[in-house]
Amino acid sequence: ASGCTLMRDPRYNKGLAFTDKERDAHYLTGLLPPVILSQDVQERKVMHNLRQYTVPLQRYMALMDLQERNERLFYKLLIDNVEELLPVVYTPTVGEACQKYGSIFRRPQGLYISLKEKGKILEVLKNWPQRGIQVIVVTDGERILGLGDLGCQCLPITIDVGTNNEKLLSDEFYIGLKQRRATGEEYAEFLHEFMCAVKQNYGEKVLVQFEDFANHHAFELLSKYSSSHLVFNDDIQGTASVVLAGLIAAQKVLGKSLSDHTFLFLGAGEAGTGIAELIALQISRETGTPIHETRKKIWLVDSKGLIVSSRKESLQHFKQPWAHDHEPVKELLGAVNAIKPTVLIGTSGVGKTFTKEVVEAMATFNEKPLILALSNPTSQAECTAEEAYTWTKGRAIFASGSPFDPVEYEGKTFLPGQANNCYIFPGLGLGLIMSGAIRVRDDMLLAASEALASQVTEENFANGLIYPPFANIRKISANIAASVGDKTYQLGLASNLPRPKDLVKMAESCMYSPVYRNFR
Ligand code: NAP
Ligand code: MN
Repeated sequence: ASGCTLMRDPRYNKGLAFTDKERDAHYLTGLLPPVILSQDVQERKVMHNLRQYTVPLQRYMALMDLQERNERLFYKLLIDNVEELLPVVYTPTVGEACQKYGSIFRRPQGLYISLKEKGKILEVLKNWPQRGIQVIVVTDGERILGLGDLGCQCLPITIDVGTNNEKLLSDEFYIGLKQRRATGEEYAEFLHEFMCAVKQNYGEKVLVQFEDFANHHAFELLSKYSSSHLVFNDDIQGTASVVLAGLIAAQKVLGKSLSDHTFLFLGAGEAGTGIAELIALQISRETGTPIHETRKKIWLVDSKGLIVSSRKESLQHFKQPWAHDHEPVKELLGAVNAIKPTVLIGTSGVGKTFTKEVVEAMATFNEKPLILALSNPTSQAECTAEEAYTWTKGRAIFASGSPFDPVEYEGKTFLPGQANNCYIFPGLGLGLIMSGAIRVRDDMLLAASEALASQVTEENFANGLIYPPFANIRKISANIAASVGDKTYQLGLASNLPRPKDLVKMAESCMYSPVYRNFR
C-alpha cells in the first residue's frame, strides 16, 4: 500500500511511530515530521492531553477522534488505562453521548439498518466491507441504559424502526428516521428479515448480542431466536450472570449459602427478572430443589408495588413466575419491612429510590446487608455508594452499575465494586466463538458466574469488594471464556473440534493485540 493509504487508514496508521525504513519503503518521507515517537510515548501524550479536558463529554469525543485516526493506539489506551477510561467510553459518559449523539455525530460507525431498507437487509449487510464477522451487537435503541428511547444510536448495528422520543423527533440534528416506532407485525417482520439475513450472510455461528431493547420486545426476541440462532440478550442474561457472580463471591464474606438468602428487587423488567431467574436456577442446581420452589425466596417490586398472586391476571408473562402469595404492598419501604430481605437489588432505572428509610431498614435486620444499585447511568442509581455506607454505618456490602469513587467512612476506606454486565459479555462472547458454539444455554451463564466469582481475592474482600478489579479484565475474560467454552464442549454444543487442551491459553491467543505492526 502507498504511504498515504497507511497514514489515513485508522487500522494501519501509527502516527509518528513509522520508522525511517517504513517511511522510505512506503514513500512517507517528508509527509511526516522527522521525529519518531514510540507507541508508548504516544500513549503518554494522548493520556496527558485527555486529562486536560474537565468535561467528560469532551474526553469521550477526543477518544472517538482517536479511534477514527489510529485504532491500535485507541485500544492500547483503553487496555492500559481501563479503569480511568471505562467511565468515559461506557457508563456514565456514554449515556450523555447517546443523548446528544446527533450533535456530536461526525462519522458513521457500524451499520444502520432502517425501515427504508425493508426487503433489502441482506444487501445492506453486504455493504459492510469486512468479511468474517463473528459477533454482532444489535440494538433498536428503545431502552438505552436507564435513559429510555434514544432512537437511532451508534452501536455496530442499529435497527432503526423510528423513535417515540419527542425531543429527538423535533431535533434538527437527529440522525435517525423521523417517524414513530413501527410496532406489532411490522416490527416482528423487519426483525425477522434481519435475523435471517445475518445468518445467510455470516453463517450459523455468528453471535448476535441483543442490547438495550425494550422489554416488550426483548423477551420475545430471545425466546423466538434462541432455538435457531446463536443469540444472547446482554441486559437479561449478561446482567444476570454478573449479579450471580457477585452473590456467589459474597457467600465467602457472609458465611451463608445462596439458599439462605431472601432477595428483593426494585424493578421487574429485563434485568430484574433475568437476575431472579438465574439465581433461582443456581439454587436449584446447588440444592436439588425444583426451580418453582427456589423462586419462592425471591420477590420483586414493579411500578405498581410488590408482585403478588392477586395481581397475576394483569401481569406481563415474564413477571408471572414471581407472583407469590402475599397481601398487596404498594411501596418499596413497605415491601422491605414485610419481606425482610437479606439482599436488595435495584433494577428500576429510577434514581434515588433506595431512600434513607429503605437502607436503614435493611441495616436493622441484617448484620451485613447486601445492596446492589444496578441502574445506569449514575443519575439513575438507586442510591450512591456514600449513602449505602453511611446509612448502614459502614456495614453494607455495596456494588453499583455505574462506578462510584471510594468512600471514607469513620476512618475506613470502602471501595464500591461495579456490578455491570461489562464483566461478562466479553468473556462470554469469546467462549462461545472460540468453541464454535451453536446455541447459548443457561448453564453457560452459570459457568461464567462461577468463573468471575472465583477471581475475587482475599484482598478484594477485605476492601469490601465482591468483584475483581476491572483493570484485570483481559485475564478475567480469558478465564470466563475458558469456563464457558468448557461448558459448551461438555454440553455437546461446540463445533470447533477437537477441544483444545488449554482453553485459557486458547482464549488469550484469540485476543486482540493493539501493538503496532511492522510494514516492510
Ligand atoms: P425494564 O425492562 O424497562 O424494567 C424496569 C422495571 O422497573 C419495570 O419492572 C418497571 O415497572 C420498574 N419501575 C420503573 N419505575 C419504577 C418505580 N418508580 N418504582 C418501582 N419500579 C419501577 O428495564 P431493564 O432492562 O430491566 O433496565 C432497568 C435498569 O437496569 C436500567 O437503568 C439499566 O441501565 C439497568 N441495567 C443495568 C445493568 C448492569 O449491568 N448494571 C444491566 C442491564 C440493565 P413496570 O414493569 O411496572 O413498568
Ligand atoms: Mn445494556
